Amino acid sequence: MKKKGSLLVLSGFSGVGKGTVAKRLVEKYGYSLSVSATTRKPREGEENGREYFFKTEAEFKNLIDYNGFIEYARYVDNYYGTPRKFVEDELQAGHHVILEIEVQGAFHIKKQYEDALLIFITAPSAMAIKQRLIGRGTESEDVIKKRLDRAKEESRDMDKYDYIVVNDDLEECVDQIHSIVRAKESLLKNNLDFIEATRKGLKEL
Ligand code: ADP
Ligand code: 5GP
Repeated sequence: MKKKGSLLVLSGFSGVGKGTVAKRLVEKYGYSLSVSATTRKPREGEENGREYFFKTEAEFKNLIDYNGFIEYARYVDNYYGTPRKFVEDELQAGHHVILEIEVQGAFHIKKQYEDALLIFITAPSAMAIKQRLIGRGTESEDVIKKRLDRAKEESRDMDKYDYIVVNDDLEECVDQIHSIVRAKESLLKNNLDFIEATRKGLKEL
């Protein structure tokens, strides 16, 4: 009996390591990672279709009009959105899908997919967040400031998530997230069909 996959939403302040954690979940445990569309300019080393689908604002708005996103949001001067088709196809195929998205998007997802698991990733301290963001070396001083301001706003919503995971040691963080997903799979309400099939099988013995 094929079960639908779980939808895993990872959010967190800029620079806490969401992208790093998501990539590792794909490598280590075979999760499917949804590639978002954005109007942000590519960073050095980023490739169209791998980190993001890079769009102009007109292209992005066209995709909104055609219902191409399951959610989209504006974050520090740019649009970001989750393409609908990949997520729906992967869940149907029974794969676990990661959405690495910011908080407004996460809450839109929860409204549409009540079973989605919302995990907020953070770093061991506020200073570590700032240091990682600066250390990544991809944003200007002005954008770093805007992202830290945004982090202050996002911190108001971090208590609305299902789980908080601290990304201190990367492997521990990745394993902890995977354990949460495994535990969710074992919830009674996610196994009602299996229970029914077991009861039926026992009757037929
Ligand atoms: P985000 O996607 O949340 O903006 P990134 O994945 O780009 O963050 O990570 C930001 C920076 O922090 C990168 O330079 C990355 O190598 C580093 N980083 C990620 N995880 C850890 C960790 N557990 N400890 C120390 N540095 C980390
Ligand atoms: P970055 O520019 O650092 O790649 O991403 C900025 C923020 O946008 C991060 O918080 C990231 O999680 C979020 N983000 C990336 N893709 C999406 C998306 O499709 N939808 C939403 N709502 N947020 C996204």
